[in-house]
Amino acid sequence: HRTSVVIVGAGPAGLTVGSVLRAAGVDCVVLECETRAFIETRPRAGVIEEWAVRALEERGLADHLLKRAERHSACEFRFAGERHRFDYTEVTGGRHHFVYPQPLLVTDLVREYADVRGGDIRFGARDVRVKDIDGDRPTVAYTCPDTGRRQVLHCDFVAGCDGARGASRAALPARRVRVARHDYGIGWLALLAEAPPSADCVLFGMHPDGFAGQMPRSPEVTRYYLQCAPGDDPDKWKPAKVWEQLHRRLAAAGAPPLTEGPLIEKRVLDMHDYVVEPMAYGRLFLAGDAAHLVAPIAAKGMNLALHDAFLLGDALAAHFAGGGDAALASYSTDCLRRVWDYQEFSQWLSEVYHGVSGRDAFRAGTTLARLRRLFTSPVAAAAFAEQYLGTAARY
Ligand code: FAD
Repeated sequence: HRTSVVIVGAGPAGLTVGSVLRAAGVDCVVLECETRAFIETRPRAGVIEEWAVRALEERGLADHLLKRAERHSACEFRFAGERHRFDYTEVTGGRHHFVYPQPLLVTDLVREYADVRGGDIRFGARDVRVKDIDGDRPTVAYTCPDTGRRQVLHCDFVAGCDGARGASRAALPARRVRVARHDYGIGWLALLAEAPPSADCVLFGMHPDGFAGQMPRSPEVTRYYLQCAPGDDPDKWKPAKVWEQLHRRLAAAGAPPLTEGPLIEKRVLDMHDYVVEPMAYGRLFLAGDAAHLVAPIAAKGMNLALHDAFLLGDALAAHFAGGGDAALASYSTDCLRRVWDYQEFSQWLSEVYHGVSGRDAFRAGTTLARLRRLFTSPVAAAAFAEQYLGTAARY
């Protein structure tokens, strides 16, 4: 079988690349190891930056999102027993965050790619192997779930969009890439509660026991995070202990009590980042978590995945339209500027979240100073809002 582009992975990155290519009339095949039902219900991210929403809209991919996503205009920091609301829409003169659960975005993108634009997508593809990316005829082999047979796809380009644990990154020659890693040395217990949010905005609780966060996802479901030891066993966190710690760490004068509910997801994330440089070699181009992981501290991962996907989709479409390869040549450099900018912000924000926990009184003092500055210095507030919301500017 021959096609122009094989896209490995049907996450936000792969499906966006596929939809852009289909709109440009380029044939492609998406290979996904899971089922459609699985990817349409896998809970993960929820915050989409306004520039990314606009970019989806320009490509005809935001109809449902614009009807159903919530627009957020503020977040609240709770520290030293007090609550401080940060109205970023006011600070930036009208910019918002969009809250739209990742499974809904993936559902919209699968429907648009496969059902509306007639894209070829193969679910349940096993043992994907990317080969011959050095030459101009790469291949991607996989085992078909129905027949158990190996299939080989011949193509011009491979888009490696298969996330942090995917197979495509392994095809990059180790001597030609560098993987930069950072480990925060902390864990987050990531929780989903079947309960309405207890505040209309994102809450950040900076507490000596550790960070706690609340991220509204929908009127029925709320995401919570609790800082914990890396590698901690989620089963040790019984519901009573989870709620006791959430109440304690998010407590502040005048704050309404949290609404409790059944915990429908409970897992420990070890907070770490990595960046693969360059993000492309030969005919293989990585996008999204396959190329870079950013701990969910600043809710940036899906936004970076979308940014890569827009650049890669447009660059490949330009190639097949005879528009030259300049955008493909600069793809990695163009993506990495935003990647490093968001990594830096996540690291900065990590210190804000975690600096008051533990026994280091000096670090706690400087962290509280950093927090207070956001509410006393308009310049500090503007800088924070710009990075928190992500900039529409090209880097
Ligand atoms: P993925 O979404 O991981 O998609 C990759 C796809 O490839 C998957 O469907 C997978 O099944 C498939 N695949 C994997 N291996 C193979 C293989 N070998 N063969 C074929 N297919 C394969 N980001 C934000 O921007 N905002 C947030 O609020 C936010 N919150 C988060 C909360 C949590 C708890 C977590 C874990 C992440 C969060 N993120 C957030 C990060 C975000 O979810 C990811 O950055 C995003 O999913 C990356 O998209 P992607 O398309 O690159 O990869």
